[in-house]
Amino acid sequence: MRETNFLIENNARHLWHPMAHPAEMLANPPRIINAAEGVDVIDIHGKKVLDAVGGLWNVNLGYSCEPVKKAIRDQLEELPYYSTFRGTTNSPLIELSYELAEWFKEDGLVRAFFTSGGSDSVETALRLARQYHKINGQPERTKFVALKKGYHGTHFGGASVNGNSNFRRNYEPLLPGVFHLAAPYTYRNPFNTTDAAEIAQAIARQFEDEIAFQGADTIAALIMEPVLGAGGVIVPHETFMPLMREICDKHGILLIADEVITAFGRTGAWTGSRGWGVKPDMMSTAKAITNGYFPFGAVMISEKVTAAFESNKNSFGSIGHGYTYSGHPVGAAAALATLKETKRQNTAANAAARGAELMAGLEGLKAKHELVGDVRGKGLMAALELVSDRQKKSAAAKDVVAKVYDTAYEAGVMVRTSGSNVIISPPLVISAGDVSRIISALDEGLSAAG
Ligand code: PLP
Repeated sequence: MRETNFLIENNARHLWHPMAHPAEMLANPPRIINAAEGVDVIDIHGKKVLDAVGGLWNVNLGYSCEPVKKAIRDQLEELPYYSTFRGTTNSPLIELSYELAEWFKEDGLVRAFFTSGGSDSVETALRLARQYHKINGQPERTKFVALKKGYHGTHFGGASVNGNSNFRRNYEPLLPGVFHLAAPYTYRNPFNTTDAAEIAQAIARQFEDEIAFQGADTIAALIMEPVLGAGGVIVPHETFMPLMREICDKHGILLIADEVITAFGRTGAWTGSRGWGVKPDMMSTAKAITNGYFPFGAVMISEKVTAAFESNKNSFGSIGHGYTYSGHPVGAAAALATLKETKRQNTAANAAARGAELMAGLEGLKAKHELVGDVRGKGLMAALELVSDRQKKSAAAKDVVAKVYDTAYEAGVMVRTSGSNVIISPPLVISAGDVSRIISALDEGLSAAG
């Protein structure tokens, strides 16, 4: 391997990173991760840290999941690629469709459309939503509704429904006909309340108002995450998603659950929607479907949407959408092995149990450190929101957040920061001891920065 300086210089010279300024790379070089083991990653200097980011919310089974690695190796030998465009398919993919229909049966989802990642899945769901209404003789239903602070990836459709200007501003104009409701964010909201149930009601009223203003017959779908992830782990009140479902049903609007983060146990339920008792019309998934070892995703489709497409014999029913890598056999084999291991290890139950310990630990940090303004989480997705003044809720400065991150890393734990949030999303297979490691590293970080 080349020496460290060569790598850092050439990383800065030749490589643009997602969600980063290309000019920052020399002054603030990224950590070079060269190896991983269990729930730890090892950097180029040989330093081993617990990966409390879980890759990027995706390595739910950790880095040493041999059955998934073996499935990938074996499938590469057997059939490294073939297309699923009309006329051909492959057997691991057929088996996977069967397993996914079983997996998502309780969510009422019966068909899968395969993609190469979360942004593809979101794009697919948005397009199929429009097509669904055309099939049903309502071609004017083209608009989308989403939540502020929601994150839905980076394709033009996904960016259009995104609820954070950082991911929109530089790429505008985006899709017309997209409307954003307030985020169900208890700590900061425009409703002058900290009562999560009241916030849910207030957003429901906003949704009804917007529908009345736009005309229900112009709206295709509401897209939302059951727990908002990248927006800062915003956990709505338990009534929120059921309320949104009710309003969608009343007005013939499809509900797309974007479960790219939450579909395979992260919240402590097997899907985020199921955790709230909601059945969506479509669900976008990706990330943990292959334990992060292969780029892959699936949009799961309900009986209702399936029936509309499959009973329609005119040109509106044919799917004019798909990717070269829709249904990649290596991804399918990886996903099959991942599902089997996920079930065997019952990771949702571990996410719920370890998540409760994590939340208790984070609440303890809030009691101890003025810097912590808010603690949020569900299962193994959590956030600390850092503030410079608790009364005013002013966001902590960038260098303060960076100090927490760097100190925690030195103490042996990698977290992720996003604005003034510290995000924690470890593999779902962590132990109680790992939770303690995360809390004590953050404790050190907050002490150093406070
Ligand atoms: N939707 C949600 C809810 C996500 O969290 C993400 C990524 O974090 C995406 C979509 C986009 O997925 P990808 O980065 O795989 O394209």
